[in-house]
Amino acid sequence: MSTDRTQQVGQGPGAAHYCAWHPEIETGLSCSHCGKSICTQCMVQAPVGIRCRDCGKPVANPTYEFRPLYYLRGLATCIMVGIGGGVLWAVYNYLVRYLFDGFAPALLLALAGIVIGIGAGEIVSRAVDRKRSVLLSWATGGSVILSYAIAVLLGPFFSIYTLLALAVGVYLAMIKLR
Ligand SMILES: [Zn+2]
Ligand SMILES: [Zn+2]
Repeated sequence: MSTDRTQQVGQGPGAAHYCAWHPEIETGLSCSHCGKSICTQCMVQAPVGIRCRDCGKPVANPTYEFRPLYYLRGLATCIMVGIGGGVLWAVYNYLVRYLFDGFAPALLLALAGIVIGIGAGEIVSRAVDRKRSVLLSWATGGSVILSYAIAVLLGPFFSIYTLLALAVGVYLAMIKLR
């Protein structure tokens, strides 16, 4: 409806033009592609001049553009996060066992899996400038499993909670990258 109004008001020389998205804002600007009147809030800078919201949209989502450099950086970060997370998990297990005098609550030991999953997703996502990729998403999930493997090697622990927390951790890590 606002588009119709813009066209009506815009007829005739000297008539006022109103933004197609903000009918209350008078403007002298118009889209270089479709000609709609736009205000300074709506305009998008394009190589060919100013455009409206619809015409100024980028064709491809830049967060899905992936270069080999990002893969390398992302995969290297996954390995480091996996090893670092594993060592931290093992230290955490040791501390919890120490604090609880040998009788460590399984739920408490398992919680680390969720925290490591969130951390891994965040760190890898930052390493690739928040870009997204299915491959890297799997790699980040793998880094959480690597953490678990290292933690188990350094000080065996196991419970159904650990597996559940590991699954949640892997999931939380993966959604950050996809
Ligand atoms: Zn336009
Ligand atoms: Zn506007």
